[in-house]
Amino acid sequence: MGSIRYFGHATFELRFRGFDGKDKIVLIDPWLSNPLSPISPSDYVREVSKVDYVVVTHDHGDHLGDAEFIAKKTGAKIVAIYDLAVSLGKKGVETVDGNIGGRLCVNDVFFVFTPALHSSGHGVPVGIVVGGEDYRVYHAGDTGLFTEMMFIHELYKPDIALLPIGGHYTMGIEEAVKAVELLKPKTVIPMHYNTFPLIRADPEKFKSIVEEKLGVRVAVLKPGEELVYP
Ligand code: ZN
Repeated sequence: MGSIRYFGHATFELRFRGFDGKDKIVLIDPWLSNPLSPISPSDYVREVSKVDYVVVTHDHGDHLGDAEFIAKKTGAKIVAIYDLAVSLGKKGVETVDGNIGGRLCVNDVFFVFTPALHSSGHGVPVGIVVGGEDYRVYHAGDTGLFTEMMFIHELYKPDIALLPIGGHYTMGIEEAVKAVELLKPKTVIPMHYNTFPLIRADPEKFKSIVEEKLGVRVAVLKPGEELVYP
């Protein structure tokens, strides 16, 4: 059994059984100092003490966040696109670099970088499919809608999709509903909304459209809340 904890904005903690039989903690886009987060980066590292991997989808401040601090305090490896990983490696953190295309050569966890329609300073922005024995999760990163999402479903079959709904910098509700149609997950968790005024959105509106139109469960998590899966 795995779990997913939301810390606001695009920050998620995944806990699941890895392929080596050990419990894993993977933190994605670790901006724990975001205005909605219920926990500070230092309290978080005290609470968990160990993190296996920190995934960074791109180097904008609201996604790179506290990655370096958390990696140094917990011994986590940072998983990022090659160019960003090289730059983080120079700061003394251990990294797993890769690129969009196929499964990363990591034994204990499933990682595949996916495209994302967005911008970034180092390399290109990505989404990621992450998983182990309990589930596979697709974190879209910051992105607009793109048709290849149908191949993410066909090839990797993520159980859970974490999708931005805030608009302006990413998909809004209308586009995210279409993304659910292409991705066909069992559960969707909306993200990247209501952190600041430009990305205001109503997650309950998204939930009612997706559940009524597509029959896919939407879990609206409050910052600090956890979903146990399956
Ligand atoms: Zn961004």
